Amino acid sequence: MPSVMGVKGPIAESDLGLTLPHEHLFVDLSCYCPSEPQNEVGKEFYHREVSLSIRDQVVDHPWDIVDNTRLNNLSTAIEEVLLYAALGGKTITDLSCCTAMGRLPEGLLKVAENTGINVIMSCGRYTLPSMTEQDRRMSVADVEAQIFNEFINGANGIMPGLLKSGFTSKIDHDAEICTLRAVGRVQCRVGCAVAIHPYIWESESHLILDILEEEGCDLKRVILCHQDYLGIKSDYLNSLCKRGAYLEFDTFGCGWINDAMWQQTDAVKIGFLKEQVKLGNADHLLISGDICLKIMLATWGGTGYAHIPKTLIPAMRTAGFSNDLIHLLTVENPSRVYCH
Ligand SMILES: [Zn+2]
Repeated sequence: MPSVMGVKGPIAESDLGLTLPHEHLFVDLSCYCPSEPQNEVGKEFYHREVSLSIRDQVVDHPWDIVDNTRLNNLSTAIEEVLLYAALGGKTITDLSCCTAMGRLPEGLLKVAENTGINVIMSCGRYTLPSMTEQDRRMSVADVEAQIFNEFINGANGIMPGLLKSGFTSKIDHDAEICTLRAVGRVQCRVGCAVAIHPYIWESESHLILDILEEEGCDLKRVILCHQDYLGIKSDYLNSLCKRGAYLEFDTFGCGWINDAMWQQTDAVKIGFLKEQVKLGNADHLLISGDICLKIMLATWGGTGYAHIPKTLIPAMRTAGFSNDLIHLLTVENPSRVYCH
């Protein structure tokens, strides 16, 4: 039977169940924080720990407090994942793909062992701000060798199940294109899925698919993350599906955070899904919550990993999605793109 590699070993297709294909159990996005403010008030906030008492300020200024951009506590991760498991969740994919992004392979293994949830780890490189000078100078062959080696031998013996590459803005930074070419080559060799964080504000993903295709990548294994913002461009998204790629709408539950990326409501995004279903793309859609800031977690008053089964799936039913269609989006599609 086809399977995908989880942190505890291979997971059979039939064991994946309800899957969140784009989350972060451990992450460090502090590379996106502005530099330390000069004024005392700003400086003090910048270095505070996130707590419920300052939650409103953090919601308004999510990137101005460094602690908000780091998830690195094992017991919090376990508690939060258990909330998802209690509602029928079976699998979570951690898309923190490298040490620079705050990935903790041993932490992922411990979460899987302590919750019974399947955890799938990613490997690759993230966007330019997370790269060192040395990272930026690597050749495609070097990055390919690094990613292939980790995919085959694991990170500290813990095995990844898919690849990731990311773009900060337009598809024009050499180091980011280098990662894209390298993951395309590795996908061709190992057959796994590839998650791409594209330029989220503009319709540039055909260029990503062109480059992957040049490197021999199977486009039917490609997941284009963060399609929420471009959801209104239904013909463009349809044309990406027609090349084989999956569209991931993965910012559900975060419309209350003061950042353009998360400003749309779940109802709007459900409308985008409906539009793609109408265009015949139901088997190319994925949904997730991309939990990556402390305030997104239930511990700090957010919706957490439980949001999809707890709130989104009932909202999809209310919006007219059948149980079969919901099963397709949340179980069958992730398993088809992952398992080989
Ligand atoms: Zn993410």
